[in-house]
Amino acid sequence: MQERLIGDVRVTRIEEIMGPGFPAKDFFPEFDAETFKSHEHWLAPTYYQPESGKLIASIHSWLVRTPHHTILIDACSGNHKPRPAMPRFDMLDTPYLDRLQAAGVAPEQVDFVMCTHLHVDHVGWNTRLQDGRWVPTFPNARYVMSRTDHDHWAAEAKRPETAAYQVNTYNDSVLPVVEAGKAEFVADGHQCDACLTVRPTPGHTPGHIRVDLASKDRRAVFSGDALHNPVQVPLWQWNSRFCEDPAQARRTRGELLAHCAETRALLMPAHFAPPHAAYIKAKGDAFELDWDRG
Ligand SMILES: [Zn+2]
Repeated sequence: MQERLIGDVRVTRIEEIMGPGFPAKDFFPEFDAETFKSHEHWLAPTYYQPESGKLIASIHSWLVRTPHHTILIDACSGNHKPRPAMPRFDMLDTPYLDRLQAAGVAPEQVDFVMCTHLHVDHVGWNTRLQDGRWVPTFPNARYVMSRTDHDHWAAEAKRPETAAYQVNTYNDSVLPVVEAGKAEFVADGHQCDACLTVRPTPGHTPGHIRVDLASKDRRAVFSGDALHNPVQVPLWQWNSRFCEDPAQARRTRGELLAHCAETRALLMPAHFAPPHAAYIKAKGDAFELDWDRG
């Protein structure tokens, strides 16, 4: 299990799923075969599977151990959750909690769970099934989420035209922690630990947040789904089809990459395949990856 030391903070990736996901041509609304082909030599086979045309995605949490707190950033998809029409996330049974334990953390030891946004693959382990009820997986944790995103998805869950998997996601993975009084609704500048700061990164969802880590002279950015696949560094104008506000998502992605380049912050997204994190170099208005191979 790869562990990174960023200043005084230990960061460990906790894997839920790794493998081929959506076809690239369906995933990016701006997909252009020729442009994509020009990147295939470095994307395949780690980030793209040529034989199937699918992007390789990792679904993981970042376990962040500061001198004072144990924090999980993003909570993956969870086990035993009905996700109609979303086979990748439907009724999973993964050893995610065993992997967390192997990293040295029991559910009782988690102080905060931070959700960059409230999509299906970021809130699942907020809860687990116990005697037919969804209960908080981490009994001593506060669950940190953006007020804007919460209110948006709470309203969506009540609309009859909302996809069933999204309704279920709110009702089985967000609502139970709200009802248990364990949710903290936050906005720009919130700190649950002195070295972690919430910043708004809207576009993928209305209240999407990133979490900035600063410890000693080192920096990292947990960027959630501001981008999904490393091809979106050189092709930073390409959105995912799940970005709710395409123009805003594009603006946010450009600002995020510029910020990482300027501050030498390690970019730690929610879905990059190995080595899962990279530094960013700016060249004019273009960006390049500088992988952190540890
Ligand atoms: Zn995601």
